[in-house]
Amino acid sequence: MKYASHISELVGHTPLVRLGSITAGLSATILAKVEYMNPGGSVKDRIAERIIAEAEAAGKLLPGGTIVEPTSGNTGVGLAMVAQRKGYDCIFVCPDKVSQDKRDVLRAYGAEVVITPTAVAPGDPNSYYSVSDRLVREIPGAYKPDQYSNPAGPASHYASTGPEIWEDTDGRITHFVAGVGTGGTITGTGRFLRDVSKDRSEADGGEVRIVGIDPRGSVYSGGTGRPYLVEGVGEDFWPAAYDPRVPHEVIAVSDGDSFDITRRLAIEEALLVGGSSGMAVAGALELAERLESQDPAAAARAVIVVLLPDSGRGYLSKIFSDSWMRSYGFLPAQGESTVDSVLR
Ligand code: PMP
Repeated sequence: MKYASHISELVGHTPLVRLGSITAGLSATILAKVEYMNPGGSVKDRIAERIIAEAEAAGKLLPGGTIVEPTSGNTGVGLAMVAQRKGYDCIFVCPDKVSQDKRDVLRAYGAEVVITPTAVAPGDPNSYYSVSDRLVREIPGAYKPDQYSNPAGPASHYASTGPEIWEDTDGRITHFVAGVGTGGTITGTGRFLRDVSKDRSEADGGEVRIVGIDPRGSVYSGGTGRPYLVEGVGEDFWPAAYDPRVPHEVIAVSDGDSFDITRRLAIEEALLVGGSSGMAVAGALELAERLESQDPAAAARAVIVVLLPDSGRGYLSKIFSDSWMRSYGFLPAQGESTVDSVLR
């Protein structure tokens, strides 16, 4: 009989799928790594197991302890899965821009959810960083994994995401594209892919180029932290989980382009994914277009892997709602055909 002893053992080994429609006119091969196929539904499942194991080994998390983490939802699900197996309580602190669906998911896993305002400075006592720090101080046996600074985050991607991509592309990947939130994904995966390819000949593609994608306004692409609507990516400070030496470049993508591509991925590729996936694919398409115009021969050989962090199910009332999209001006005013605007 073939079975796992717990759902959390099934994290990783997500598939690559070629994008075939949205890429029309581009000769590069663009492969999407579909992280919503992790058991908790996102890329963040990968970091949870390692973060908890290292905290236990270091004596920071003891039996019966409480995990307190500021999270936009996905890290919470990953941590809640591991906590369930190991008997820890979870309290998650979410900014109020996080959708009701995502909050409900965390509660469904048995976690407590605390909501904080988005539009305050990180140092404000009501910010989601400050509130989680206060909870850790006040609750006996509390442990804050802090995905923003925890080296186990990037390490888990170095150990799993990177090797999976290298193996599944038979070592032919030329570019790795991922959105940057805490920076753990791009830092760990990118570092592995650079290390493993650094001696590859130019004819075989040379060192893998690492391309970070950032919501326009966020610090990674030179912004000030100005608010944007894409969830899970972009920052208003520089987290320690992000090593700015790993990406060769960071491309900024607007909310409008991110949401447009997110909707097209569902309609044209049957990939129902979240806004940070649309953002990453928008960046990958920009990269492929640039390669095409600068060096068509290199573009034809390019194998671009773009990571899709989570599923679109958590965004049905936002990105996939015409009225929500219209309220922010991402779709034409009522009366015009929204279907046409999506299929243009
Ligand atoms: N997209 C979504 C939906 C996320 O929740 C996250 C994690 N914050 C990311 C992208 C970015 O991943 P990372 O934190 O590893 O940079």
